[in-house]
Amino acid sequence: MTALLEAQGLTRSFGVSQGMFKARRTLHAVNGINLDIRKGEVLGIVGESGCGKSTLARMLLGLLPPTAGKIALDGQDIHTLGRKGMARRVQPVFQDPYSSLNPRRTIASIVSLPLEVHGIGTAAERRKKTLDILDKVGLPQRFADRYPRELSGGQRQRVAIARALVMNPEIVVCDEPTSALDVSVQSQILNLLMDLRRELGLTYVFISHNLAVVEHIATRVAVMYLGRVVELAETEALFKAPRHPYTKALLTSVLTPEPGAGIPETGLGLAFPDPLNPPPGCPFHPRCPERMAQCSTITPRFTEHGRDAVACHLHDPELRASTPRNVVTL
Ligand code: SF4
Ligand code: MG
Repeated sequence: MTALLEAQGLTRSFGVSQGMFKARRTLHAVNGINLDIRKGEVLGIVGESGCGKSTLARMLLGLLPPTAGKIALDGQDIHTLGRKGMARRVQPVFQDPYSSLNPRRTIASIVSLPLEVHGIGTAAERRKKTLDILDKVGLPQRFADRYPRELSGGQRQRVAIARALVMNPEIVVCDEPTSALDVSVQSQILNLLMDLRRELGLTYVFISHNLAVVEHIATRVAVMYLGRVVELAETEALFKAPRHPYTKALLTSVLTPEPGAGIPETGLGLAFPDPLNPPPGCPFHPRCPERMAQCSTITPRFTEHGRDAVACHLHDPELRASTPRNVVTL
């Protein structure tokens, strides 16, 4: 599969004031990510709250410019496509269907707004397209003239999906699209997303803290830790035989149900490190049960293993050959 969207050295830093004296610190929310999103795949992105998933999503949508690195869509820098050019090809579905729909607009007006903004079609053509899309997402056409408050959470998320699809995008970036919904409704929305992908040939970036959902929907998974991708693998391989100690910990942990609700229970003993003061060497080393002497000083390279890749000294063929295993206790 060829790369449709490709991030190279993608970095986003924010200046943050901290402490009593408001000292300026730099937060590297996304830190040097290389990632290719292939046509037709569902790339799941997982990691604890605060690992940079949502920042990465906004960058892939062209909503947040990088501080370093670049993103190319079909080989073209998205910077040159502009917001409008990007909106025609990459669309978002966000977590909260309650706050992402304008309460004063009807469903038809919400769904057709992107067409209006881009000056696509006549009013009658836009209306027809809107009704067609409502059909596709499983909403009755009579909902067109209702308001968001008259719909359930699942129905509102269907509206948000309809709004994303009305532009005929190639890529849909879903950031926790089912996290705000009741469990019973979550699977309906996931099934709808899968059906639409097949029917429309869509490519998804699917961000979630819910590993069961990602295992169900994704074809490949990127695991993020402190702004970096630490493991990238085909879904089955990742869940069956994770390489990175952090991935192993995630798979055996119970994450908090609410993104942003604090430190998840990873069973790793130590809390998630301060992103403003990330550990040197491997950023995971203070929590890693398999750390070695070099882990606290040398940042691991991202090395390829067949179709998968991992950033850990344990899996770096060169370091592995030259260094005896030496687990240190802190
Ligand atoms: Fe653990 Fe070292 Fe691998 Fe980091 S590089 S994940 S500390 S073994
Ligand atoms: Mg988030």
